[in-house]
Amino acid sequence: MDGCVFCKIVKGEISTEFEWDDDKIVAFNDIEPIAPVHILIIPKKHIESLGKTKKEDVELLGNIQRIASELAEKKGIKKAFKVITASGKEAGQTVFHLHYHLIGGWKNKAPEMEIDKSKEADK
Ligand code: AMP
Ligand code: ZN
Repeated sequence: MDGCVFCKIVKGEISTEFEWDDDKIVAFNDIEPIAPVHILIIPKKHIESLGKTKKEDVELLGNIQRIASELAEKKGIKKAFKVITASGKEAGQTVFHLHYHLIGGWKNKAPEMEIDKSKEADK
């Protein structure tokens, strides 16, 4: 989709090192990591958000979760990791191409579940 930063990454218009690359899914490091390991896993096809997925996307969504587990293994965080997606602006979504955050690698316990970096979210 024109103007979508993640479509540009998929098409190679923004040079990115992929942690995963198959015919339907890619994964790459988040530009602004919130944890020692912070990888974004995205479908190659443009889907705005989880809320816009259809029944036909079930296999794709399942594969994304499986890849999250494989990447957790590859990165040495299999023991403890989180997979998070924000669907909709009010949920904190800032890039409107479906993506799952794979985060982990904390020394002790993970911080509260939070991917909003603005720190202005209301309580
Ligand atoms: P969200 O706020 O859940 O929509 O997450 C979007 C994420 O994309 C943020 O964590 C950003 O840091 C990340 N991001 C934005 N642009 C890029 C980029 N060019 N390469 C890698 N990560 C990006
Ligand atoms: Zn896109």
